[in-house]
Amino acid sequence: MLTGETDRVGTATFHLLRLLATAIIAGVYLALAVGLSPTMTGLAVLCAAGLGWLLRGRLRTSRETGRETAQAMRNLYGVMADHLGGMREARIYGAEQHHVADFERLIRQNRQTVLRAVENMAAVRHWFELGAVVTLSAILYVSIEVLALPTAQVLLLIFLFARLMPRFSEMIQSYHHFVHLMPAFLSVVEMERRCRAAAEPTPHAPGNIEFRREVRLERVSFGYDTDPVIREFDMRLRFGEIVALVGPSGAGKSTVADLIMGLVRPDEGRVLVDGVPLGPETARAWRARIGYVGQDPFLFHDTVRANLLFARPSATEAELFRALELAAAREFVSRLPHGLDTVVGERGMALSGGQRQRLALARAFLRDPSLLILDEATSFLDAENERRILESLERLRGRMTVLIISHRRSTIRGADVVYELCAAA
Ligand code: ADP
Repeated sequence: MLTGETDRVGTATFHLLRLLATAIIAGVYLALAVGLSPTMTGLAVLCAAGLGWLLRGRLRTSRETGRETAQAMRNLYGVMADHLGGMREARIYGAEQHHVADFERLIRQNRQTVLRAVENMAAVRHWFELGAVVTLSAILYVSIEVLALPTAQVLLLIFLFARLMPRFSEMIQSYHHFVHLMPAFLSVVEMERRCRAAAEPTPHAPGNIEFRREVRLERVSFGYDTDPVIREFDMRLRFGEIVALVGPSGAGKSTVADLIMGLVRPDEGRVLVDGVPLGPETARAWRARIGYVGQDPFLFHDTVRANLLFARPSATEAELFRALELAAAREFVSRLPHGLDTVVGERGMALSGGQRQRLALARAFLRDPSLLILDEATSFLDAENERRILESLERLRGRMTVLIISHRRSTIRGADVVYELCAAA
């Protein structure tokens, strides 16, 4: 929608403005024509209105093809994104032909819709031009044979109407184009509405939040749709402790992390930081104190240095190396062809999963957070590197709270408290 539909909204705006501009010019011609002969002007307007009425079926087609084009474009972009994102899987499962067939089907559909739309617009222009000739002939006939207007006046009228009819034609065409592009506009407006409804409310007065004692989840329930994923869950993270959260896949561990970070809000219950409830006013300030590393962390298509500085732009070289050391990443980074200035590739693809995780960890350490959340963050690491990272966490004990989400026993061995989530019944 962002790439395709917004372009079409731009074109729709152009046609709307052209419609207005043409209407103003037509208005001037009409005023002059009324001055010369109100009867003849009335006849011309009647003919133009009649033509518009006759072509109303075409307007319906414009609306339909507009809707179909919007849908077809969305499907096409969807299939393209799927194909590019899942190219590896497509090759492994031999599904390339399936993607190609999907793409061809959508292209064919799209071509038919576009052809129908173009044919419809051409027909509108063609019928209107034919109608304009008939109208001009009728005006000529009535002026000379019926009203017996003086030749000079007839010539002036013909001149005015000959200029006026193409303006009417332009207006009708612009209107058709506008109607055709309207679905794109409506989709963008609808998307904007949904984004706004889902957006985090902007606080009137952003509040500060301190974490010196504990983060508490009090009888928290949360569900994405109707069924709750988390039910009346209590949890306590004391400052300086290492807390583990375990449970089978799908039990809601990542959802608990999102609740703690204030990315989603509980349906019932509260999240308290040192007794202050987490809400729109405090969520931003709170997240500034959190370091988070997920299972497959996101790296920008930039250098290792830029990816680290993203967490804290003012960090010095020494601080960068210390963070890399804590994340057991210093060695491999110094072995990269350009060290800290090596470009990691799109989404960090030039690195292995384990290397990406360690860089993301270094990024989180650099932030010097009060709460560090590691959501299966060492899943791609070998035992030796995982051990080194756990030792780093051990050294940081007391300086920050660490929440480790993992299913590996080895990862949670050093935890002070272990919470276990059960799978939903
Ligand atoms: P875990 O981290 O323990 O594997 P998650 O917290 O990721 O579990 O997911 C818990 C449940 O919530 C799963 O059943 C999952 O399908 C569902 N879920 C997670 N994220 C979303 C989402 N954005 N929209 C809808 N359902 C979701």
